[in-house]
Amino acid sequence: MPAGSHGFQVGSIRCSVLSDGYFSYPTPWFFPNADQDRLSRALASRGQPLGRVLSPYTCLLIEIGRHVVLVDTGGGTASATSGSIVARLHMAGIRPRDVETVVLTHAHPDHIGGAVNSSGRPTFPNARHVLAELEWEFWMAGRGDLRGLRLPDDLKDSMGATARRCLGALKFQIETIDRETEIAPGVRAIPAPGHTPGHLAILLSSEGQHLINVGDAAVHPLHLEEPDWENGFDLAAAAAVATRRTLVERAVSERMRLMAFHFPFPSVGRVAARAEGGWTWSPGW
Ligand SMILES: [Zn+2]
Repeated sequence: MPAGSHGFQVGSIRCSVLSDGYFSYPTPWFFPNADQDRLSRALASRGQPLGRVLSPYTCLLIEIGRHVVLVDTGGGTASATSGSIVARLHMAGIRPRDVETVVLTHAHPDHIGGAVNSSGRPTFPNARHVLAELEWEFWMAGRGDLRGLRLPDDLKDSMGATARRCLGALKFQIETIDRETEIAPGVRAIPAPGHTPGHLAILLSSEGQHLINVGDAAVHPLHLEEPDWENGFDLAAAAAVATRRTLVERAVSERMRLMAFHFPFPSVGRVAARAEGGWTWSPGW
């Protein structure tokens, strides 16, 4: 596969992680409550800049027989450094009309933006778009109260506008769920609230192998090493940290591989508990 794509099997389920691109964020948006000295040391030891986080956007393509499922759609036209998902799918032999199911872990612009094209129409015309009912209600009925985010006000406004624009364009293709639900054989969506009210994790299981895609329950490997470090994009920080602990502890105890949308590509790897608390991240499949 070309750079930006990586294929692997979860039992009999064929998976590909596909890079939609990336975006450069101010570091405090990702680590609003981190101890500054520890954060600086941790970033420096990884050879990463201190002021900005270069954050990948990685979607998950799942092929089960003829079923084609895409988890998250990337940022679409939101920035010049994202919006590659349709090209990546073509390279994997998938046309937009072949996608039967899109799962949206949540309705932030970097996850839903690619579901609507530059003409304002659905990118994947034949796909049902699975989303938590709570997520739909939060953005559409509740108008999305974003006061809990530790982000600039103009960014909050644009996040709300993008969610409503995209969900509106997809309204005839949205299928909401209100509990843990099997989306396709061996693919389950699990409520994972905190980052957003209806945030979902996706669990793949086949032939004794498991992969859990935690979405944005952790957006940087340092959120595993330092589980109490919050993310400024989390609407309810305490709930988000509790969800992260639950998901990662399950991955460790049940020997699941873990995927996170914003982790360094290929965004899949293993987690292991550290004696001093938190978890280590070892990339790769
Ligand atoms: Zn995200």
